[in-house]
Amino acid sequence: MTGIHDAVVIGAGFAGTVAARDLSAQGHSVVHLEARDRIGGRTCTGEAFGRTVEFGGAYAHWTQPDIWRELKRYGIGLATPMEVDKAYWLAGGAVHSGSAAEHSDAVAPLIARYTADARERFPQPFDLAAADAEAIEQQTAADRIEASNLSDHDRDVLEGLLSSLGHSLDEQGLAQFLFWTATYFGDWGAFMEAAGHWPIEGGTAPVLGAIAADSTADLRLSTPVRAVEDDGPGVTVTTRGGDTVRARHAVLALPLNALGDVSMTPAPTPAVRALVERGHPMRTSKVWVRVKGEIEPFSAHAPIGKHPINAAKTEYRHDGDTLIVCFCADASAIDGTDREAVQKALRRFVPDIEVVDTAVHDWVADEFAQGTWAHHRPGDLTGAVPLMREPHGRIHFAGGDIAAIGVGGIDGAIASGADAARNITRSLAADGS
Ligand SMILES: Cc1cc2nc3c(=O)[nH]c(=O)nc-3n(C[C@H](O)[C@H](O)[C@H](O)COP(=O)(O)OP(=O)(O)OC[C@H]3O[C@@H](n4cnc5c(N)ncnc54)[C@H](O)[C@@H]3O)c2cc1C
Repeated sequence: MTGIHDAVVIGAGFAGTVAARDLSAQGHSVVHLEARDRIGGRTCTGEAFGRTVEFGGAYAHWTQPDIWRELKRYGIGLATPMEVDKAYWLAGGAVHSGSAAEHSDAVAPLIARYTADARERFPQPFDLAAADAEAIEQQTAADRIEASNLSDHDRDVLEGLLSSLGHSLDEQGLAQFLFWTATYFGDWGAFMEAAGHWPIEGGTAPVLGAIAADSTADLRLSTPVRAVEDDGPGVTVTTRGGDTVRARHAVLALPLNALGDVSMTPAPTPAVRALVERGHPMRTSKVWVRVKGEIEPFSAHAPIGKHPINAAKTEYRHDGDTLIVCFCADASAIDGTDREAVQKALRRFVPDIEVVDTAVHDWVADEFAQGTWAHHRPGDLTGAVPLMREPHGRIHFAGGDIAAIGVGGIDGAIASGADAARNITRSLAADGS
């Protein structure tokens, strides 16, 4: 289609795919541009060990309204996770083991104390005007640990718990941990169940495929965008290949850390520009590991900086073997493709474990992601990030990284994409288009 479109959506992760569907469902003409040769962005259902695995976002929950609505709409369920009753945790220089309940008993008082003021800080997480976050927004996640005067052992236990969502507690804001907890009634355990327990049945790709199939947008894959210019009456989007698309509005549904590679005219406000420049700090990795035999299901936890694998959990049985998902806080601390390095790291917990094969996607080196999920630096969650949720003229930012409730996840990405579509539909109606 030539001429001016109603909207151009840039990025085909969950945020962009939902925005494109919702806009086209309103009868708007939409061009949808995606840099990769696939949709899905930081979710990626791929092949490893002769089956599918999720290299990026995987888990969802019935308490997450936006992803849950999509799952119901397309008749997709959640897979039942493997029961795990054995836990290992590295603390005070030694590996401890016990039942999951014993690990839970060790961590529960520590995390309850760490997050005790979550609801007080964010009494209505949907309304930041009600938040009392100024003081905590000046603190990193590490600052509060420092101030807690914990024994080395307890400190390691607490950090081992936070580490599955950690990269560097010195760079991650305390506020986001409290905010997430507040959205789950002040209960960290409930938040963690929602965030990382229930895989989507069949993976994320069928969900995205169903959403995309309901969209009449003109989807153009392998089309990275170079520039977006809002000249008043409309926007012109220029691809790296030199093509242009003209539309009344643009949705920029890109990872925060990849936004800096797209030139925006006019430039965003200084606060937003600075946020885009510093990005979020999350340079973690998720490594899939096939180990020999149907081993005893376990979870393992290690503090950041003290072990290359910070969280591990048996996830599936597969052809007589077991698949383990590992989260490494520092992607550069271990090469997830190095079978022996991964085996050595896992043997710290389970001495006789035998790694058959591994699989990983390098989200940090991936130019269209430049990191994993967003965890904002001190000040950003309630500072510059909410500013990105406002339209910038005809440019509308969207994505899990800047979502309100559900920040950093698939649910937030969907909510944010749907918000952008609604805002544009309203503007188009107001313009009489
Ligand atoms: C390892 C890992 C594990 C995770 N686990 C979970 C989980 O279990 N549950 C959960 O809820 N969330 C999880 N997340 C987070 C979740 O995957 C993301 O928050 C969510 O997928 C973000 O969606 P999005 O649409 O905002 O961004 P993205 O999915 O990143 O989509 C952005 C799109 O923009 C494209 N793009 C980038 N630059 C350009 C350009 N210049 N031009 C055109 N297109 C461009 C990208 O290719 C991409 O397709 C995880 C993320 C990772 C990486």
